[in-house]
Amino acid sequence: MDSAKDTLLDWLRDAHAMEHQAEKMLTSFSDHLKDYPELKTRIDSHVQATREQQELLRDCIEKQGGSTSKIKDLGAKLIGLSQGLSGLFVSDEVVKGAMSIYVFKQLEIASYTVLIAAAKQTVNTRTLDVCEQILPQEVAMAMWLQNYLPEVTQSFLARSRAI
Ligand code: MG
Repeated sequence: MDSAKDTLLDWLRDAHAMEHQAEKMLTSFSDHLKDYPELKTRIDSHVQATREQQELLRDCIEKQGGSTSKIKDLGAKLIGLSQGLSGLFVSDEVVKGAMSIYVFKQLEIASYTVLIAAAKQTVNTRTLDVCEQILPQEVAMAMWLQNYLPEVTQSFLARSRAI
């Protein structure tokens, strides 16, 4: 059985893969948001935050002597969102896309909550600091999306009627 430190390293790699997946989803979503400028602005700034999160995680992994080369695609494995998203953006898909990203945020929130507990258990201060820095960003994005979902829904439906 792996030591707790090995397990933490594995989970950090999973989180790095998850953020890579998040970047792909957000970037793809952003390409379809020209009619939703407020959402696009928020998504684009979160793409930047997501890239910075990847760098922070990579640093944690490398400080433990690991590498990000053997990445496991946790995000895609867990909920298959990547397949779902590639087929999205047909008609009502700004709403479905916002929902999917909200769901993915919940995966990220759960992952960082687990990582924080594991970092405390293994007394890994650097990982604890990084994950405590990232978690509020994910919570804020999830809350923003939840609050924005009614507006994007109504905006989408209003546009549907106009066509
Ligand atoms: Mg993230």
